[in-house]
Amino acid sequence: MRVVFLGAPGVGKGTQADRVASKFKSVKISTGDLLREAVRNQSPLGREAKSYMDQGKLVPDSVVIGLVRDKLREPSSANGFVLDGFPRTVPQAEELGDVLKSAKTPLDRVLNFQVSREDVIRRLSGRRSCPKCQATFHVDFAPSKTGDACDRCGEALVQRSDDRREAIETRLKVYEEQTAPLIQYYRNLHLLSELDGSGTVDAVFESLSRVLAPYKPT
Ligand code: AMP
Repeated sequence: MRVVFLGAPGVGKGTQADRVASKFKSVKISTGDLLREAVRNQSPLGREAKSYMDQGKLVPDSVVIGLVRDKLREPSSANGFVLDGFPRTVPQAEELGDVLKSAKTPLDRVLNFQVSREDVIRRLSGRRSCPKCQATFHVDFAPSKTGDACDRCGEALVQRSDDRREAIETRLKVYEEQTAPLIQYYRNLHLLSELDGSGTVDAVFESLSRVLAPYKPT
């Protein structure tokens, strides 16, 4: 199963990608996670990406494309993958198409998660994450049992720098301008399925599983 999860920041792509990857025995490739890891490790790539990310802007295509290219070459991707947060621009989508075409492993589906702007802002601004084990919580919808520490490892939870109000506004604007055109791009390729992302995590996962059922490995 080779799929792309498309949608504005905060629609739940990452959460669902984790569940789908484990159910369908494929890997989740999240460019946001890969970039945050590079920032934590203070690698040259991480240092370049940090200022874009903190402001809610997109990291240059060349940087992100290189990351994804490397991941797709890893043996773990051979069983299929869920791309979360990539592609985010038309040049990224074109590059992905070229890479997959030359590997003769075309995409099966692109899922477009739809959630209202109001809900997206509520989801992003209440999100908290664990800097140690990367578990995520939400102050209202999925609070940590211990308040402000991680239920899994006990570390103090933090708010992502790009989940602050100002950065959220920028991310939504960037999404509209640079990423939303991919909806039509993939519709033209007859790969797009729309998905209502406004329900509970379980409800969205159920609809998603129905759309993806034909691609389940036997
Ligand atoms: P995410 O966790 O997917 O919301 O990504 C967090 C941040 O990482 C984004 O706001 C961008 O700064 C950067 N980023 C993630 N994926 C991409 C991408 N495909 N292209 C450019 N920048 C990206």
